[in-house]
Amino acid sequence: MIVDIHTHVFDSAAHFGPELNADLARCGVDPGIWGNVEERHLETTAAADVAVVFGLQASATGWNIPNDRVAAHVARAPHRLLFFVSVDPLQPGYMEELEKYHRDYGAAGVKLAPLYQNVHPQDKRYYALYQYCQKHGLPILFHTGTSFVGGTPLDYSRPVHFDAVAVDFPDLHMVLAHLGHPWEGETIAVIRRHENVYADISALYYRPWQFYNAMQLLVEYKAQHKALFGSDFPFTTTEDSLRNIRALNAVAPGLPGVPAEVIEEIIHRDTLRLLNLPNPLKK
Ligand SMILES: [Zn+2]
Repeated sequence: MIVDIHTHVFDSAAHFGPELNADLARCGVDPGIWGNVEERHLETTAAADVAVVFGLQASATGWNIPNDRVAAHVARAPHRLLFFVSVDPLQPGYMEELEKYHRDYGAAGVKLAPLYQNVHPQDKRYYALYQYCQKHGLPILFHTGTSFVGGTPLDYSRPVHFDAVAVDFPDLHMVLAHLGHPWEGETIAVIRRHENVYADISALYYRPWQFYNAMQLLVEYKAQHKALFGSDFPFTTTEDSLRNIRALNAVAPGLPGVPAEVIEEIIHRDTLRLLNLPNPLKK
């Protein structure tokens, strides 16, 4: 079974605020290139058996993708999509929002992004969320590593901050997205110390030399069993991610490659079981 642990849906015209549009313009990105994200999402995620889907609530950087919109999207293919709720600690009532979407909309996990939300990973507002998630067995997928967004401290995205969180919440399942690029080594140091902390390898293949080195490092530290497949759609697609991850050794001909069986193990990782997620195929 293939699980894509990292996919987004949004309507950029309706859900992106001025801060986000300014960041995209600064980087020369036209959100129009992603087309109709929701329709394309249903097509691309068919390349996996199950996909985890989220929006993002981050008022500090202009992201306002309503959770009911994401839940409605998941309801279009409930036999293969899993809904993760995103809540913004800068908004009053964020705990109630989490509880509501967990209780009434079947959220199977939570998406947080300290860099986008302008909140340090060890902030007490997050700690209230961690407590709830640990108690109810909800995994949290964190954006870690760099991003095109500005105006907030990059330090909030450092993988090492999640080491202290894992010490305080040993039973909380966490996924550090993008192997924390460009701090892949730091991410590997964290995931190998904590039984319930994982990393996804989404959005990395388009820096092929760095990706190749990160995957070698993962194997050298014997931490490959903590890596999960993800795409980061719509910034790439599920199909392109699978194809390019399988081709990762092509950038380094003549050098030792990451073994094909390691790559296939990551792609076919039993992510649902590891993160305590329900299997929508059995609905
Ligand atoms: Zn993402």
